[in-house]
Amino acid sequence: MSESFRAVLARGEILVADGATGTNYQARGLERGQAPEQWLFEQPERVTQLHRDFVMAGSNIILTNTFGATAIRLAHAGLEDNAAQVNQRAVELARRAIQGERVWVAGSLGPTGQLLEPLGTLTHADAVAQFAAQAETLAQAGVDLLIIETQFDLGEATAAYNGARSATDLPIIVSFSFDMGAHTMMGLQAAQVAEQVTALGADMVGVNCGRSLDENLANLQALRAATHLPLWMKPNAGLPRMTDDDVALYDVTPEMMGEAAARWLEAGAQIVGGCCGTSPQHLREIARAVENARVRA
Ligand SMILES: [Zn+2]
Repeated sequence: MSESFRAVLARGEILVADGATGTNYQARGLERGQAPEQWLFEQPERVTQLHRDFVMAGSNIILTNTFGATAIRLAHAGLEDNAAQVNQRAVELARRAIQGERVWVAGSLGPTGQLLEPLGTLTHADAVAQFAAQAETLAQAGVDLLIIETQFDLGEATAAYNGARSATDLPIIVSFSFDMGAHTMMGLQAAQVAEQVTALGADMVGVNCGRSLDENLANLQALRAATHLPLWMKPNAGLPRMTDDDVALYDVTPEMMGEAAARWLEAGAQIVGGCCGTSPQHLREIARAVENARVRA
């Protein structure tokens, strides 16, 4: 995308991000225990098709299939020696899906899956190096921005931001998952997150994944009260119910997601999308809420 993402942010334009990667792949045949990144090589046409489905639903930003693509996390999929190829391939497939639409490609960086010292064994320096390497590959492969998402620990989020920033001047968004409702798994609350991410110098701060839509709205409002940074909002379709044969069912319908999106915009979100359980149909309703807000503005 030649138009500067930072310029679009600065003039306050509301944008639509995409929906879930993992749960949509699962609905399309990804087996439990398989890493989504394996599909970059095994099912590339399905990867491109999901991106395409989101673009057709109205997404202006699509996230690369690289959430688990730090080298250390790729070890679970046996791909640790192929981290550069994984990240390059993901950008290539996302770019292929855009087909001339006004869409930006965001490189996704998720947690390493390891706890940092002193709770775990990963050193801060190693964490920084992991994220720096991934961000550098994503940037060289041609993403327009980076999204560090589903963060729960300030130490890891800081390492991720510093690593990514050492590798590129691209816009960087940092987003947290408030898994426990009003706080993250590590006890972080939205106000602390806002303060830290603002101090780091990130371009945006946000909420993604998490638990219920009501709790995520409250976290978004708490971010708004604590920072002037533009806000990213990409919540789950609620928490899933597991069926007897281990299939995750999400109760939040596309219509409910669209109604919720109108409230995210009222609360000050500038980029809105969905996380686990949100299909292209959910995104179509979110895009409709954004369109309605644009008409009113
Ligand atoms: Zn999620």
